[in-house]
Amino acid sequence: MPKDDLARFCCRNPDCDAYGRRGGDDLLVIDRFGKAGHRLLYCRICKARFSEFKGTPFFNSKFPHDEVVAVLEHLAEGCGVRQTARLAGVDKDTVTRLARLAGRHAEDSHDELVAFSPRDPRGPAR
Ligand SMILES: [Zn+2]
Repeated sequence: MPKDDLARFCCRNPDCDAYGRRGGDDLLVIDRFGKAGHRLLYCRICKARFSEFKGTPFFNSKFPHDEVVAVLEHLAEGCGVRQTARLAGVDKDTVTRLARLAGRHAEDSHDELVAFSPRDPRGPAR
């Protein structure tokens, strides 16, 4: 079995010294669960266990990942909530919930990856 690549993962426990630190050897795969074999990760530093999908719209979703992706792709293409619900075959409340989760995940990613936003060239201050 190939070694699990955990370079993009980090401990999700805010109280842990390894929180947010990627690329180390702090994490291990200790179990797989569900039909798709999702990985349960373990932090050697704080002993926390968490799903590899914690903090994403896939976490604890009863929908298959491709359905979640389909919902988010429809929204990204500009479809409204009700239109997305009809096209993806899910409830409109599900669309709203997934959109909120994806938005939170995108905000977290932005805060981690973007050190500062460039000035708006059309803004009042230059
Ligand atoms: Zn930890």
